[in-house]
Amino acid sequence: MIDNFHHKKKWGQHFLKDNNIVRKIVSESGITSQDKVWEIGPGKGILTQEIMAVTSNLTLFEIDPEVIEIIQGKFGGKLEIHAGDVIKIDWKPLLTEPIKIVANIPYQITSPLLYKICRNSDYIKSVTLMVQKEFADRLKAIPNTKEYAALTLKTQFFYNVKQLFKVPAHLFFPPPRVDSAVIHLTLREDIPNIDNLELFNKLVDVAFSMRRKTLRNNLKPFIGADNLSKLESENLIDLSRRGETLSEEEYLNLYSYLNDILNFKL
Ligand code: SAH
Repeated sequence: MIDNFHHKKKWGQHFLKDNNIVRKIVSESGITSQDKVWEIGPGKGILTQEIMAVTSNLTLFEIDPEVIEIIQGKFGGKLEIHAGDVIKIDWKPLLTEPIKIVANIPYQITSPLLYKICRNSDYIKSVTLMVQKEFADRLKAIPNTKEYAALTLKTQFFYNVKQLFKVPAHLFFPPPRVDSAVIHLTLREDIPNIDNLELFNKLVDVAFSMRRKTLRNNLKPFIGADNLSKLESENLIDLSRRGETLSEEEYLNLYSYLNDILNFKL
């Protein structure tokens, strides 16, 4: 890119430079003129411009004052821009109607961003996001694979996950050292109805805390020996299995037993 913009590493600034890929991201995001869209980290606005061609109802989040100046110069007052760290900004007052997210973000914020999206899923209908390829593989993973992780279950609890396509490093400037992929999350219509999501998440974290260990060994320090033997006698699940072999349904069964029968509290 021939200009004097100073790319800041700490904010993961890898700008897309290929219009075809940008068009593909927007067309596969499924956004329409009726949608309210959030874009996180617009950079010089290559994706912003393409989203604007579909809907003018666009809200931006950007941490770099230099970027904000460029965006304001390009799009003037047509856009709502929230300056600051999208992870720290309080989304609650901004989420007054359903939105869709379309963004090429710095990879270091992927996990906290997804966490925040899941926490606000009532209002976030779909998410089209550039992520590191390995991250995409984990998000869409199925049981009994090495990619299947706590993050998989926590995300798939709320969203159906699809990997749209890979994006080679040379389509960014400067090119990142990792492979990238665009994922598409759509809000599930059958989100499990549970009253203690924290417990479900904790259970999943514990089950995956040592991947090579059995459920029995991972669960013991968490629920205690007494609860463990109750669970064992229930024959609900074979505790010699590993966390990575359990489906969502099996985790939900375990959760229900802890929450409803044992009245287990975090
Ligand atoms: N979407 C643009 C730029 C991607 S680079 C493109 O595809 O070309 C990532 C962008 O996110 C940069 O503009 C960077 O300044 C911004 N950013 C980095 N961390 C952020 C954070 N915590 N909150 C909001 N924006 C952030």
